[in-house]
Amino acid sequence: MDIAELLRLDREHVWHPCTQQKDHELLPPIPIDRGEGVHLIDFEGKRYIDGVSSWWVNLFGHNHPRLNRALTEQAGRIAHHIFAGFTHEPAVELSRRLCELAPGALNKVFFADNGSAAVEVALKMSFQYWQQTGIPQKTRFVSITEAYHGETLGALSVGGCELYREIYQPILLEGFQVQGPDCFRCAYGLERDSCDAPCFEHMQSLLEREHENIAAVIIEPLIQGAAGMRIYPPVYLKKLRALCDAFAVHYIADEIAVGFGRTGRMFANEHAEVAPDFMCLSKGITGGYLPLSVTLTTDEIYAAFYDDYASMKAFLHSHSYTGNPLACAVAVEVLKIFEEEDILSSLAPKMALLDAQAERFEALPHVGEFRRCGMVAAVEMVGEKKGKVPYPWQERRGLEVYRKALNMGALLRPLGNVVYFMPPLTIAEDELRQLLDIAFAAISEVTAD
Ligand SMILES: *Cc1c(COP(=O)(O)O)cnc(C)c1O
Repeated sequence: MDIAELLRLDREHVWHPCTQQKDHELLPPIPIDRGEGVHLIDFEGKRYIDGVSSWWVNLFGHNHPRLNRALTEQAGRIAHHIFAGFTHEPAVELSRRLCELAPGALNKVFFADNGSAAVEVALKMSFQYWQQTGIPQKTRFVSITEAYHGETLGALSVGGCELYREIYQPILLEGFQVQGPDCFRCAYGLERDSCDAPCFEHMQSLLEREHENIAAVIIEPLIQGAAGMRIYPPVYLKKLRALCDAFAVHYIADEIAVGFGRTGRMFANEHAEVAPDFMCLSKGITGGYLPLSVTLTTDEIYAAFYDDYASMKAFLHSHSYTGNPLACAVAVEVLKIFEEEDILSSLAPKMALLDAQAERFEALPHVGEFRRCGMVAAVEMVGEKKGKVPYPWQERRGLEVYRKALNMGALLRPLGNVVYFMPPLTIAEDELRQLLDIAFAAISEVTAD
């Protein structure tokens, strides 16, 4: 198909995600022909370094030979079959491996096909657990400011990004939102690497007051992604685990973005040496190949659902593509690659390379902070350094960085005034350097006035 015709038909029929479609008048979507390693390649052969892992899903690059093989081998057997009353090797193998890798006593795996659905599953399971264990007044969920847990109504109810949620407020579940950590603009004047998270007091006082009505706390461990890669210290999670234990409240870890090596460990909770009651995983789980998600939980929680049929305690939740064999086969291969190619050990020099950038970026007059956790780093642009005054959102500085970076050959889709890096874990050091140089040039230009 000729490109002009492709774009005409796109405008005619396609509604893109998280986009004001009118923006396409200025910046039409870029048709991609193929991928190769960390690069997306358009029909003119122009390459873009995928600096955001195609919305945080890609782990080992595009068009990966091992993942391609796992996918086609499974396709040669069966692409999909019903998962109620039937099972298959890829799902069983994936479950076994995930339970082995997961922190603590997480030992049961429930399948769905996207992150929001995994969050819905955790919320429903937690709620139902308390219904079936004699504490039915525990019905509410707690989340923190700027949280992101997905876009379906349940997931949005525990979200804190007003941009995505405000208009839907009248149709969302009622819950509790507490002030979470905000290390860049710390209200206590502390540093994230040395503090003891006194900001946890907000969570503490809410649970002390309301624990009888609370089923679970849900949180993104260590990095609040959609909030602008807000990074906070593991001590906050340690305190959360202890508090949840003290008040019989579930801890739901949403590791959809941070799981699978992004923080330098397989799962972010490992940094805090704690284990959640539910862990939601998606995104990197298939290396960015296919939609798949899982919710892990403990035998203890599972037991509250396990009874004779007539007890009506089963978890009657399903999605048509639950446990899709193609996705599971690729996910198993992803875990094998982690192991056999020693991916986590290979990250150290790249994390050091990211750290070495802090000084350079923070020397810019309009960069308030360069922060990093694992293989994720973020540059927060500010209108004024003194007082950390944000640029007015209407100026869309981030969008300008995005446009300039595209011209220079990098995909850096920002979050408001935050330009971030979440490249595939396998990015080579010279590719990472190139990505950082492009970001530096683009940010310098956009903040020059
Ligand atoms: C992306 C994301 C989700 C939602 O996943 P989808 O597959 O987009 O529905 C939930 N939580 C976090 C932390 C995420 O980053």
